[in-house]
This record gives sequence, structure tokens and C-alpha cells, in this order.
Amino acid sequence: MTRLVTRLVATLMAVAASLPAAQAADQPVAIAIHGGAGTISRSQMTAEREKAYLAALQDAVEAGHRILESGGSSLDAVTEAVRLLEDSPLFNAGKGAVFTHDGRNELDAAIMDGATLNAGAVAGLHHVRNPIQLARAVMEKSAHVFMVGDGAEEFALEQGIRLVPRDYFYTEERWQRLQNARERERAALPQTDKFGTVGAVALDRAGNLAAATSTGGLTNKRYGRIGDVPVIGAGTYANNAACAISATGDGEYFIRSVVAYDIAARMMYADAKLEQAATEVIGTKLVDMGGGGGVIGVDRYGNVAMVMNTPGMYRASIDANGQRVVRIFAD
Ligand code: ASP
Repeated sequence: MTRLVTRLVATLMAVAASLPAAQAADQPVAIAIHGGAGTISRSQMTAEREKAYLAALQDAVEAGHRILESGGSSLDAVTEAVRLLEDSPLFNAGKGAVFTHDGRNELDAAIMDGATLNAGAVAGLHHVRNPIQLARAVMEKSAHVFMVGDGAEEFALEQGIRLVPRDYFYTEERWQRLQNARERERAALPQTDKFGTVGAVALDRAGNLAAATSTGGLTNKRYGRIGDVPVIGAGTYANNAACAISATGDGEYFIRSVVAYDIAARMMYADAKLEQAATEVIGTKLVDMGGGGGVIGVDRYGNVAMVMNTPGMYRASIDANGQRVVRIFAD
């Protein structure tokens, strides 16, 4: 009888050891998403609009979380959350992307796998319905990290990624915003209409981190301008040794301060905690330079940080304790 029990225990232990880490139910999962930071004023926000934003954020964060809960990868969770936000006309990515100075839409996106440090980035797209899917294909199906313009779209075609006519991206609201921006430019007034990028970061049951970001860039940007979003280490970064970060804000400043990597570096080399590192970079370093925006981040323990130096950032999260947050304004 004792021999039987011993054998049974040994067999059970062997089975447990052979289970992939992904099956470990006690490993926490966490996800955070954003729909852009910027001058989101309460006076311009109707109750109806606010409801629509909160619902879209809620749908995306829950969709990503369901993937994590069922043992799916953080890469799948961030891809799906960003894809949903790209399909919503409320956000400046995919459908709903802002217009360039010459009245076109140019989309940028990136994804990074914190387990392998593999990354895929795309920029200057005119026809790809979901740029995040193309970024993922660049990471997984090409020998490259960063592809732009015609070459990237040619690759999308080869990969069977959905292409759409340019007018798919047209929305009346973004078009009017371009007209306002052009007016302000003529009158030499500062540009006020900024931000709206989308992004997601996640930790899965296997302990792997991933980050994804997608954007139409800045209203009235010049033809060919590329922002921080697809620049690995600036707007998007993930490393299992530290955290996953997705940024939104004045892209030029985020590139120059290598925001996402700087947050990870402070954690790796100066032993900073996620919240502290993000607050130092967004709240002090960027502010000193004059850059506005925010980041979302998750670390390998499932801690979530959502930090901004602007009046608001569309954001939502579900942390390792299952605590849910969906918010728009900074306070
Ligand atoms: N960071 C983006 C860019 O500069 C804009 C944004 O976050 O809305 O392209």
C-alpha cells in the first residue's frame, strides 16, 4: 500500500514537472491598455461620449484579459486589445486615425515580446486596416524588425493581411480637426489637437511580458513623419527582466528621451520599481524637456502603472489581484 502511494506521488510529481509554466494557475496575469493621452477637457466631454469611450476601453481590456485567463500568451492579448481599439473610430489608430497636413492617413505600429526581445515595427502605412497585425507579422514572419511604406504594404499583401482603400480611414471628425489645425497653423497659433494613440501591455501565465502600440501619429504632421510608437525603446518596449511599456504623447520628445527603454533601464540597473521609474521619466524628465504624454506599464509581478503628465489619458487595467480600473481624467 505504502509502495503504491509512493509511486502515485512520484508519478504526480513527474506530471506536474512536465507541465509547461503556462499551466501554473497561481502565476498572476495582468493587462493595461491606453487610448491616448492629451488635453482631454471635461467641458468638451459629453456624458454620451464619455460612456462610449469607457465602453470601448472596457471591451478591449476584458478581451485581452480573457485571453490571459485562459492561458493565452501576452503577445496574443496585446495584439487583440490593440486590434479592437484600432477598429474603433474613437481612437487615433486604424479607423479613426488623424490626417497628415496633406490630408492623408499614415499609420505606425509596433509590438515587442519580452521573453525573446523580438520586435516588429511598421510605419507610414496607407492601406493596412490593422497595423498591429502587420507589426506582429514583421516580428514573426520576416528577418527584419522595422519596415516602412510601400515595402511594408507589399509584405502585408504577401502575408494575407487585410488591406483597405485609403478612404476606409476617413472620419468626419478627424477631417474637421485637420481643418482646425491648418487654421491655427496659418494664424501661427500653437497646435492643441494632439494624441489618441492606442496601446496595450500584458503579463501572461508563463511569466512573459509583451507590449503593443498603434497610432495615426499627430494631426497635421508632415508627409513621411514617423513618431515614437514604432521606434523600439521609445514608444514601445518589453523585457521580461523589467517591464512592458506602451507610450502616448509628443512623439518627438519620446524618441529623444527613449522613454520606454529608460523606464525599463531604471528598473534593471537602478533597482527602481515600475511606478517610480515611470513617474520619474514622465513626471520629471519629460516635463523638464517640455514633452507631454503618458505611459502604461506592467512588471513581471503583475503590478500595473498608468502615469501621465497631461490632464487625461484614456486607460484601463486589470492587475494581478483582478482589480479593474477604467478612467479618462488624470484626477
Ligand atoms: N506618440 C504619437 C506620435 O507622436 C502620438 C500620440 O501618442 O497620440 O506619433
